Amino acid sequence: MKNDKRKLVVIALGGNAIKQANEKGTAEEQFKNVAITCDQLVKMNALGYKLIITHGNGPQAGNLLIQQEEGKQLVPPQPLDVIGAMTQGQIGYMFQNILRDYFINKGKDIPITTVVTQVLVDENDPDFDDPSKPVGPFYTKEVAMELKDTKGYVVKQVKPKGEKTWRRVVPSPEPHTIVEADCIKALVAARAIIIASGGGGVPVKKNPDGTFSGLEAVIDKDKAGNILAQSVDADIFLILTDVRNACINYGKPDEKALGEITVAEAEKYYDEGHFLAGSMGPKMQAAIRFVKAGGDKSIITSLDHAVDALEGKTGTIIRK
Ligand code: ADP
Ligand code: MG
Repeated sequence: MKNDKRKLVVIALGGNAIKQANEKGTAEEQFKNVAITCDQLVKMNALGYKLIITHGNGPQAGNLLIQQEEGKQLVPPQPLDVIGAMTQGQIGYMFQNILRDYFINKGKDIPITTVVTQVLVDENDPDFDDPSKPVGPFYTKEVAMELKDTKGYVVKQVKPKGEKTWRRVVPSPEPHTIVEADCIKALVAARAIIIASGGGGVPVKKNPDGTFSGLEAVIDKDKAGNILAQSVDADIFLILTDVRNACINYGKPDEKALGEITVAEAEKYYDEGHFLAGSMGPKMQAAIRFVKAGGDKSIITSLDHAVDALEGKTGTIIRK
């Protein structure tokens, strides 16, 4: 496919692309949201973009963790790396199923597949010393302390008041390498639509003998999305969330939506602290890293403006 000049886009989907905040997370609800998201993906395909999709998994992993906890008298609970892999399969299946429907209806026979993805991290990453990413259910202090003693969980109080204010926290290390990058590239060359590195990928460490082991950690999906985009030589890194633009002075009277900006401007605003840690911060950081590593452009916008943003009409666009 040497003469396939179509632009390759890595799309990082935010939580709202699969589950809305007010929903419980039934399969029906998730299929419905995925269908709305796939509408946009089909339009991008029709415009001639090659697509790799990555996505968050916070609510899905959270629900699975509750099932492990509640079902542990009956079946053995699975560790966090396995839960991560389970959510990649679950969400990937929903995209495969619905995208296929859309394309069959249009008479198009496009290969669509999910790659359960491992992402190599450094086990000496500073985040392993002071885990900060809450996962799973809220607990009372008593239950939290019991889990700390029996399972060695790191637990933190994450809300000031209420009955259940404690949660397990896990490290969120920097992603380094997409283990399945070669497989993903081969699928791009085969003109497939690919879902990969869901939930930021399953974090793994490299052992002295060269084998990999899964870790009880969670990788930020936008940061992993950047590493994925770099490793497949993507042209565009498109981060879709629930706001149309990244803003400076966010939430203040002088808030200003950012349109097309240079990577130098983006870095300046990032250093000035305009993008909150844990939400827009990692998105902007990932967007900056992609362009600095040689990507054409990164875009941050909302799902419903994705197609217009790809065509340069809206959203926050970061370029050299
Ligand atoms: P996702 O599920 O897409 O990763 P997040 O909640 O992590 O969504 O990030 C999107 C949120 O980032 C927005 O809803 C917004 O509240 C928040 N945010 C923080 N800082 C900014 C900023 N400077 N400009 C725009 N949104 C911001
Ligand atoms: Mg997020």
